Amino acid sequence: MENCIFCKIAAGEIPSRKVHHEDNTIVSFLDLDQTIPGHTLVIPVEHYRWFYDVPDEEANRLFRAARHVACELKKETKADYIQLSIVGTDVPHVHIHLLPRFFKNKPPTI
Ligand SMILES: [Zn+2]
Repeated sequence: MENCIFCKIAAGEIPSRKVHHEDNTIVSFLDLDQTIPGHTLVIPVEHYRWFYDVPDEEANRLFRAARHVACELKKETKADYIQLSIVGTDVPHVHIHLLPRFFKNKPPTI
């Protein structure tokens, strides 16, 4: 999609720090805002607005990739767990946030 920053990142038109998983359908990269170190985004290369717009097979690949990246992030950051969230109101290209979290910190509110 024209003027979509995540489409441009997936196409390599905008540099990003890719991490742990990249193939021709799914890309993961560090979020620019590293307020939470290791904050990673996992996106389909194809542009979809909402997660429920993603076709079944691609959704399976997306969530399998997110699980794989979460396992790697947990090892790398020694986090107690990895929070997964999908909001979708900031950048209009479906993306999964993976956030390393520690039990000692206040849990995020939903
Ligand atoms: Zn896009």
